[in-house]
Amino acid sequence: MDKSKQKAAARAWKPATRAVRGGIDRSGHGEISEALYLTSGYAYDSAEQAAARMRGDEDGFVYSRYGSPTVAMLEERLALLEGAETCRVTASGMGAISSAILAPLQQGDRVVAAKALFGSCRWICANLLPKYGVDIEFVDGADLAQWKAALSKPTKLVLIESPANPLLDGVDIAAVAELTHKAGGWLIVDNVFATPVLQLPLTLGADIVVYSATKHMDGQGRVMAGAILGRSADIEEVYDPYLRHTGPAAAPFNAWVVLKGLETLGLRVNAMSASAARLADTIAAHENVLAVRYPHRTDHPHYATHAKQMSSGGTMLALSVKGGQAGAFRFLNRLEIVDICNNLGDTKSLACHPSTTTHRALSEEEQASMGLDASWIRFSVGLEDAGDLEGDIVNALDGV
Ligand SMILES: *Cc1c(COP(=O)(O)O)cnc(C)c1O
Repeated sequence: MDKSKQKAAARAWKPATRAVRGGIDRSGHGEISEALYLTSGYAYDSAEQAAARMRGDEDGFVYSRYGSPTVAMLEERLALLEGAETCRVTASGMGAISSAILAPLQQGDRVVAAKALFGSCRWICANLLPKYGVDIEFVDGADLAQWKAALSKPTKLVLIESPANPLLDGVDIAAVAELTHKAGGWLIVDNVFATPVLQLPLTLGADIVVYSATKHMDGQGRVMAGAILGRSADIEEVYDPYLRHTGPAAAPFNAWVVLKGLETLGLRVNAMSASAARLADTIAAHENVLAVRYPHRTDHPHYATHAKQMSSGGTMLALSVKGGQAGAFRFLNRLEIVDICNNLGDTKSLACHPSTTTHRALSEEEQASMGLDASWIRFSVGLEDAGDLEGDIVNALDGV
């Protein structure tokens, strides 16, 4: 089958088949496991061919900052999983997200973002955009009245995360997409916490989806990568020139690791999510816990939003313990199986204290504006036995 027929056939596959077989581009050797091409440049058959490739008149690779075979396989597999026309993979999640934000903007443009964002995303919006003459407004992502007011003015980009760091806030993606389009802009959704297994923002009206593939997609704590997904015309016109000339290209080895990680993404995310739902209930029942945030628990303030757009509660939860920061630190230090780590989406369960780590750059008032205080722990549930995790967590909570 030629490549374009193979690509079209893959669009009829179900997600599990796409995750295992999508984007395969076999060499003449017929290898079963995807080949890892470590090369910076490509040899041309003739000077004419070199000129034709550079002009874009002939398909093929020209330089690995522009694209390379293993990275291209990952891009095609991710596009299939997301149901996106096109994907570009970068060296890290922030490489993808910073490019997704900066490439479409120019001086005088306006951006609206939800307050609850990954720390570096918030830093770009709050500190970098104003330096380049871009107007930024933050809103409470769960409050549609605030979105309506902010998007009553022409706006180029809207940036949200749902569920968001660190307290799993929910944003109504379809409603914000509609308001964004009325304001003439693009909605960018950072879908890291949900993954394409549980939530597909493009089907809800988002224009661009971004990922840190470092998280669930690698899923085993090994490499960093990121992805931008959207319509082919937007990616080719707006993002390709930016990515080619600024150079956040992913390393082929890292792309290969993520490609293999995707084969088990659905199995891992569904198993981790089932454990997380069980642990959220156990934690909520403990006397030393003040509050639990889990997207599919009915006591989550944004439960209705999460329930309508996310197919399960996901792998992440947050808990507030008695005793403020001292209580939170005692809890973390008493964990014996779970590691203290600010990464997430790993097969190993990981816990962190956002207000002194991932969100330490924000002032106390900024933290408070997203509901965060020093009593909160963010928890990424892994693939260990759920009973073992339950025992570890309850033992740590008993000593708070
Ligand atoms: C980790 C993360 C990022 C940044 O990705 P990196 O791969 O660390 O650069 C962005 N957004 C969210 C929600 C994340 O969890």
